[in-house]
Amino acid sequence: MNTTMDVRRRLPAVDALMADPSLQDTLKRHSRSLVRRSVRETLDDARRRLQNQALDADSLPIEFGDLVQRCVSRLDTLTQPNSRAVFNLTGTVIHTNLGRSPLPEPAIEAMAEAARHPIALEYDLESGGRGDRDTLVESLLCELTGAEAATVVNNNAGAVVLALGALGAGREAVISRGELIEIGGAFRMPDIMQAAGCSLHEVGATNRTHARDFEGALNDETGLIVKAHTSNYAITGFTKSVPEHELAEIAHRHGVPFLVDLGSGALTDLAALGLPYEALPRDTIAAGADVVTFSGDKLLGGPQAGIIVGKREMIERIKRHPLKRALRLDKLMLAALEATLRVYRDSDTPARDIPALAMLTRPEVDIAALGERLLPSVRTLLDDVDVTLQDCMSQLGSGSLPVDRLPSRALVWRPQAQERQARERALRCLEMAFRCLPKPVIGRLRDGALHLDLRCLMGEAQERQFVDQLKLLKSHYIASRTREET
Ligand SMILES: *Cc1c(COP(=O)(O)O)cnc(C)c1O
Repeated sequence: MNTTMDVRRRLPAVDALMADPSLQDTLKRHSRSLVRRSVRETLDDARRRLQNQALDADSLPIEFGDLVQRCVSRLDTLTQPNSRAVFNLTGTVIHTNLGRSPLPEPAIEAMAEAARHPIALEYDLESGGRGDRDTLVESLLCELTGAEAATVVNNNAGAVVLALGALGAGREAVISRGELIEIGGAFRMPDIMQAAGCSLHEVGATNRTHARDFEGALNDETGLIVKAHTSNYAITGFTKSVPEHELAEIAHRHGVPFLVDLGSGALTDLAALGLPYEALPRDTIAAGADVVTFSGDKLLGGPQAGIIVGKREMIERIKRHPLKRALRLDKLMLAALEATLRVYRDSDTPARDIPALAMLTRPEVDIAALGERLLPSVRTLLDDVDVTLQDCMSQLGSGSLPVDRLPSRALVWRPQAQERQARERALRCLEMAFRCLPKPVIGRLRDGALHLDLRCLMGEAQERQFVDQLKLLKSHYIASRTREET
């Protein structure tokens, strides 16, 4: 018996399936070629299944309707974007793995405009001659930081490499042992210095570095003095570091530049908003730093970018470095960054108009009220999961230290099975069910429960979308439990 022939005969032809009335609606929504592709793949898949079970093939019914169904769900998977919007209910507001901050509305509009049309990117509208893309944001950055000049690149890691390469390649970069930071991934200060062509000259001890350590380290080989903001850890106890203005004075006495990597860098005083103090580039410039770098998408709340501000002569050197071209910011990010900076310059209420700041400064009573609104409808959704509203603490994120200053509320989903293993299984399925929703909900597993911190669920539209899709939770949960059991 020819099994292959036999199997083939039991499947419909591609065209027969394409002509099926129940696929006609689908054909209106997707291109013919895409539908054909999914039909072909569905049939290939069915053929493989039949061949694998060829011996008892008679027992496997090939239903036309089942094939159509598989075809439609294959199309759904094929057309679902990989970069999907999610609800960030992890409790970490500026979450690097979830794309950091949502952008302010003017930045979103500026991006759409720049995406849709040609823009005067490197074109001087006054003279009609060639322009420099940095001018889109340079004067705003100077105004906001008090610097003489500014340039921007793809991200702050790039900004640090570029600045080190332009100012210190082939020479020594002097830095305190207490600041040889690792930011995450492969970003470690000693490696970055090496990549930029500087040799690392570390001074002082892990906990204490004095001015005399820097004085003693400076020699003919010195290229620059570097200070890195230790954003993600703290050295406490018997400690000493040299203040910026003293480092600037030492550097200038020896005729070398002083570079400060601020990491986050805030453009408005966060302490005045009740948040932990974050260094302002303006203060670092005022203290005498020649070059200051910081991120566009951390506490600034804008698009991914590395911002470099400082003395004109230094910024010119940085802009002439070949890596500047390799790291340049694209027009969409430039448009978004310009619009974000304008909010800081022009708004009376940046803490309301910059979403990251709005989330970070959201009043606790507001979050609590949201929790009370949601609780009655969510607590009865699943029979074997108990839901409560609990106090919690949100975190800033983006490498900031955990701080206990952002009291919030979380919906806590706790499976009720008797056995520990059954509870763990249920919890995995629950987390999975939330991830399967049309707009996946990302929470945090902790102490045998799924915690959904409500701080970042902001605005009526978001709340409605969150509530509406919960009606799908139970079926995803049950489907996930069934998969676990088999
Ligand atoms: C986050 C951080 C960086 C890297 O910035 P990205 O914009 O993420 O590239 C560099 N230095 C410090 C001190 C940081 O905190």
